[in-house]
Amino acid sequence: MLKPKPTVDRPATQEELSSIESTEKMLAVEKTLPSSLNMARGLAVEQWRSLKLFLRGKRVICESHKAQHRWRICKDCPALLYDETNPDTNKKDGRCVECGCFMNVKVHYESAECPKDKW
Ligand code: SF4
Repeated sequence: MLKPKPTVDRPATQEELSSIESTEKMLAVEKTLPSSLNMARGLAVEQWRSLKLFLRGKRVICESHKAQHRWRICKDCPALLYDETNPDTNKKDGRCVECGCFMNVKVHYESAECPKDKW
């Protein structure tokens, strides 16, 4: 039968302290984002809007000047707080805490909407 080994107190290494700090930061971010269910719903709605545009023969990706205009507004918005790396693009795309989306990507979708009606 396996018995747990007794542990002894020891000072934490710098690596362990850094790991604790980064995990605490990650947890703080997750606490302020919308729930996973709401983010999944938002993504599904966005995909549906894009599909409708596509099926009607309309533009799905917006013109570059429009995306840049939206991105400038987002960059000045207090809701864009996080410089997280987007796993799809491997870039720091900036995340909106209102919708949970990576905005440097979302601003390019013609049907995208700002949850605060700022653009
Ligand atoms: S989508 Fe709207 S609320 Fe979110 S960061 Fe951009 S401007 Fe702010």
